Amino acid sequence: MKTLIMKFGGLSLGTPAALAQVLSIVLHEHQQNKRLLLVISALDGVTDMLLEAAYLAQVSNPRGYRRIAATLRTRHMALVEQLPLSTDERTSLLADIDRLLFEMLDICQNVANMPSDTLSPVVSDKIASIGERLAARIVAGLLRQNKLRGVAIDSTELIITDQTHGNATPNLERTTARVQEHLVPMLDRQIIPVVTGFIGTTPSGVVTTMGRGGSDYTASILASCIHADEVWIWSDVDGMMSADPREVSSAQTIPNLSYDEVAELSYFGARILHPRMIRPLQEKHIALYVKNVFKPQLVGTRIHDAVEAAPTRLKAVTSIQGISLNVQRSGDITDLVQTVNRVFAETIGSGADVMISAQSSNETFLCFVIPTSAGMEAVDSVRQALHEAFSAQPQLPKWTLKPMSVLTVIGENLDDAPHLLATLLMCLDGVRLFALAQAPSRCSISFVVAAQDGKRALKQLHDAILKSE
Ligand code: ASP
Ligand code: MG
Repeated sequence: MKTLIMKFGGLSLGTPAALAQVLSIVLHEHQQNKRLLLVISALDGVTDMLLEAAYLAQVSNPRGYRRIAATLRTRHMALVEQLPLSTDERTSLLADIDRLLFEMLDICQNVANMPSDTLSPVVSDKIASIGERLAARIVAGLLRQNKLRGVAIDSTELIITDQTHGNATPNLERTTARVQEHLVPMLDRQIIPVVTGFIGTTPSGVVTTMGRGGSDYTASILASCIHADEVWIWSDVDGMMSADPREVSSAQTIPNLSYDEVAELSYFGARILHPRMIRPLQEKHIALYVKNVFKPQLVGTRIHDAVEAAPTRLKAVTSIQGISLNVQRSGDITDLVQTVNRVFAETIGSGADVMISAQSSNETFLCFVIPTSAGMEAVDSVRQALHEAFSAQPQLPKWTLKPMSVLTVIGENLDDAPHLLATLLMCLDGVRLFALAQAPSRCSISFVVAAQDGKRALKQLHDAILKSE
């Protein structure tokens, strides 16, 4: 019997209409005689609100976090009221919602009573975990109402992680042991476990989260532990796209991608999948599908091993905003990277991600990415801090900092197809290229252009991809 893991994202859970889709998908797959396991995210926007509540608690603003708790209560209650449920099921769900939100208020209150300058990630993880726990219970209730044996399960019972709160990594061995003990017997009895995504626990039982969008990662870890045949990620887009449809209107769904290509896509800015979810699936050759919950008849994108001897194709282009640092000197760049790293850590709280570096006889070029979460003013703060760092050096080098766009074209074995590279370069005629790099994975080529040329270059590269088919 096939084992299928389906992950439903927040946008596919937020309304009665979306939940009706979820139900009909689950019923359909159940009829195909598959062993099913569901992974559930929080309703859309809920994790953001919970993190906001955690912040308000830290700055001792009880009115603020209570208002959020009230909004969350109304939203989840209204959803439950609108679903076709029996009185018993509804009453028990309403009680669950109240209990979980009391728990959240309790944690917030404790934080507010002990003011501190920073919010402990241990606390924000506890508060953020409420969203998934609410949603999984609602979905399990809906399944039971429809004669499916749905059981909500907190993944804190299953997924054992390290202690990196906010971005934890599961321990596969320990998690597999738990999953084999608790989940597999359920699957064998035709029960459909409805597991919370995103959250886990340290070995000593403290709740952790696995990074934003972490429910994808949960699905992939569970798939690895039970040797699932397939993982389907349900969201509100038709699949992985050839470009971000908000930026390029002619973007199309990509039918097939290899694990390497999709990992590269996530690394270079496509935000659909959690970047760390690919590796566990790749190791076990488990197929991954990205599908649209509102158009289940579409196949979506299938992600699997690369097909040997498939012709090289250009598949997608991504774009991310970066900044480049040009320094008039050559030689070892270690100290330069260290300086930039320190400056980044001090000004925006996280290390710099060097995407591309290049050198000539008397100049060094480094291209970094500033996370969007750092805010608009981050570039100016970095510039100021770099100025101070360089001024402290005995020989002040000449340097400039400029906003850039990094455009990355994805396709398998690109280095075997110089004619495709030529096509890409020709389409960029008239755009100044600051650097060009091919990734060691052989399936991406990045072009660095000035920020003001980014939109135009993105469109030109995308046109070239469509024409190359
Ligand atoms: N609810 C979490 C988030 O918003 C995890 C997820 O949606 O996958 O990041
Ligand atoms: Mg997501």
